[in-house]
Amino acid sequence: MELIQAIRGTRDILPDEVGYWQWVESIARTILCKANYLEIRTPIFEQTSLFERGIGEATDVVGKEMYTFSDRGDRSITLRPEGTAGVVRSYIENKLHVGGVQRLWYTGPMFRYERPQAGRQRQFHQLGVEVLGSNNPRADVEVIAIATDILQALGLKNLRLDLNSVGDLEDRGRYRQALIDYLTPYKDELDADSQDRLSRNPLRILDSKDRRTQEITQNAPSIIDYLGEKSRTHFDKVQQLLAGLGISYSLNPRLVRGLDYYTHTAFEIISDDLGAQATVCGGGRYDGLVQELGGPDTPAIGWAMGLERLILLLQQLQNLPQSELDFYIVSRGELAESQATILAQKLRNAEFSVEVDLSGSAFGKQFKRADRSGAVACLVLGDAEAENQTVNLKWLKTGEQNQFSQSDLLTQTEEIRSKIQASRSSGTTMSQ
Ligand code: ATP
Ligand code: MG
Repeated sequence: MELIQAIRGTRDILPDEVGYWQWVESIARTILCKANYLEIRTPIFEQTSLFERGIGEATDVVGKEMYTFSDRGDRSITLRPEGTAGVVRSYIENKLHVGGVQRLWYTGPMFRYERPQAGRQRQFHQLGVEVLGSNNPRADVEVIAIATDILQALGLKNLRLDLNSVGDLEDRGRYRQALIDYLTPYKDELDADSQDRLSRNPLRILDSKDRRTQEITQNAPSIIDYLGEKSRTHFDKVQQLLAGLGISYSLNPRLVRGLDYYTHTAFEIISDDLGAQATVCGGGRYDGLVQELGGPDTPAIGWAMGLERLILLLQQLQNLPQSELDFYIVSRGELAESQATILAQKLRNAEFSVEVDLSGSAFGKQFKRADRSGAVACLVLGDAEAENQTVNLKWLKTGEQNQFSQSDLLTQTEEIRSKIQASRSSGTTMSQ
């Protein structure tokens, strides 16, 4: 029989990897919570028109990457390719603007029909933030600082922040024309995609991956020179505030981002350790989007991180979070095994994490599994312990052993907990 396999471009996140995911999520949650960002969960599919209007038909995402299908009621549905459009739809539909500035975050799967490769999948995951209702450059800097905080807390290095301003609609209109004027004489030398974009979405040509196109755009006019006074002031303030926070960045006038609704600040956080799929976080201001989708004129800024790429980096660094297992219980013999089950339950009720070896195999084999489990201590119950209602506690890092009566173990929980904590912070026991 032919085995059914996962769909191309999707991956299972198996238990030996999922610890990274939980770690990233918990670090992000903690940092977002400290800045009072609130989580929002929107549906995974939406009406296709939301993305067509919200992302723009001339973008790659809408033009060729969307998972679009008709449902049984003949409605055109699309699996969300990114989070912002859905959040903004929800913001408008639920009138969240009434509550003043909204600081929101989300995480979950996104879907794009792309050629799968390392760090690029068809179902992938993003974590993102959106601040709606402020046009203050301080909001731009707040979201950038949160992104850098998260990456730093994960221990990631070799990251750089690229910064640009794409101005407002007026600035972009002028720049767009200048770019078309510059590129038109080279039209035949541009790659096919870029030729196609020349009239529809010329700014996107700046991030073409084609060598010859890149050579040509090297000397293209820079958007910075087309910013009006308001855009200039906003951008200066962003840079000044970033400097004040000690966040370093480089200006990259070619950073235009793929999506049409971006205005003013655009940024990316890029890793030097990821090969071709190097951008781990992309974001910027999108002052035009809420109104474009039928809401009140509302400035906004946000970013999204690609979690697969983050996890690849963490795996390269071997930055494993520590195992959270306190006890691994080894037992052999019928009475001992029954007592082990009860003891595990009582320890869990006392807020310890406990794994019970269920194999009934020789003690030697069970001890090996205890070592591999990442637990701090092993509890051993054999016939003799079962007879006497005792348990042997073995500290796995030092090999030191203590004998307890089972009831004493459960009354000395605080003392044991602090010993577990001390053992954990004293060294390098990592899970797997
Ligand atoms: P890229 O240039 O890599 O295609 P993008 O500009 O399409 O990126 P965004 O729409 O800004 O990406 O999404 C934000 C982040 O989501 C990216 O920086 C990346 O880390 C991640 N991401 C985007 N597409 C994918 C994908 N197909 N698979 C895995 N991660 C992705
Ligand atoms: Mg893309």
